[in-house]
Amino acid sequence: MRFYKAELFFFLLIGLVGLGGVSAWAAFSAATGGYIVGGVETAARFAFMSAILSGLSIFCAATLVFPLMASGLREQGKLRKMTESLSVRSQSLEHAAVTDSMTGLYNRRYFDEALGEYLNAFRSINKPIGMVIFDLDHFKQVNDTHGHDVGDEVLRQVAECLHMFTRYHDVVARLGGEEFAILSPNISDRQLRSLADRIRLAVSQLTVESGNVALRVTISAGIAIWDGTERGDELYRRADRQLYEAKRQGRNRVCAA
Ligand code: GH3
Ligand code: MG
Ligand code: MG
Repeated sequence: MRFYKAELFFFLLIGLVGLGGVSAWAAFSAATGGYIVGGVETAARFAFMSAILSGLSIFCAATLVFPLMASGLREQGKLRKMTESLSVRSQSLEHAAVTDSMTGLYNRRYFDEALGEYLNAFRSINKPIGMVIFDLDHFKQVNDTHGHDVGDEVLRQVAECLHMFTRYHDVVARLGGEEFAILSPNISDRQLRSLADRIRLAVSQLTVESGNVALRVTISAGIAIWDGTERGDELYRRADRQLYEAKRQGRNRVCAA
């Protein structure tokens, strides 16, 4: 059996206190003519021994046990702080792994995972899921004319717009570049189209300052409602085909599968 320093010091202290107590008892017993005979002289010897042992106990408690206890408590405090900061850090890393750092929306990885999970869950309850894919129109031109920083600001404002129009359970993601998507559970065809169109209109009314120019952008969208059997990538492809159709028809519009 292995003893730690603190335990050894503790047992030493208990031993000293115990011996001090026995000596005090012996002194009392000798003085009152109890179990121990020997009179006042023996009683005085035991009393002296008891005083020495009490002194040693106090010394041992103050110099050995207390410093160890205090440093143990300090270490425990440090450890608790470290654990707390590690858990905050791991939460923020988890958050960073699924978030697009520029817009604060979910990233493609999270979107794909959420899509798989939603389809699995909704397969059994027979409820609809809608998908919208958005792509900014002529965005390359925005970058070329006003610079990349202005382009980034446009992306942030569009992301904010998407976020404002969606509900708690909708998954809003930046899929990459100037492409965004919404996964919206429990939504009808008509509601999904209306959602996409309200966002399209709001984006067309955004103004982004670039020097003394107030820049306007537009967005096109393709939407599709899950047919209840298709895989996530098939649903995505159907919505993407509609996005392509919206671009083909002249942009700044919503097309539905
Ligand atoms: P279309 O209407 O057909 O979609 O035309 P487009 O110009 O939007 O499409 P294209 O694919 O030709 O260009 C996309 C541009 O998006 C090119 C790229 O510079 C820009 N882009 C992609 N990611 C970012 C980004 O993070 N920041 C900025 N500022 N621009 C980006
Ligand atoms: Mg584009
Ligand atoms: Mg694009």
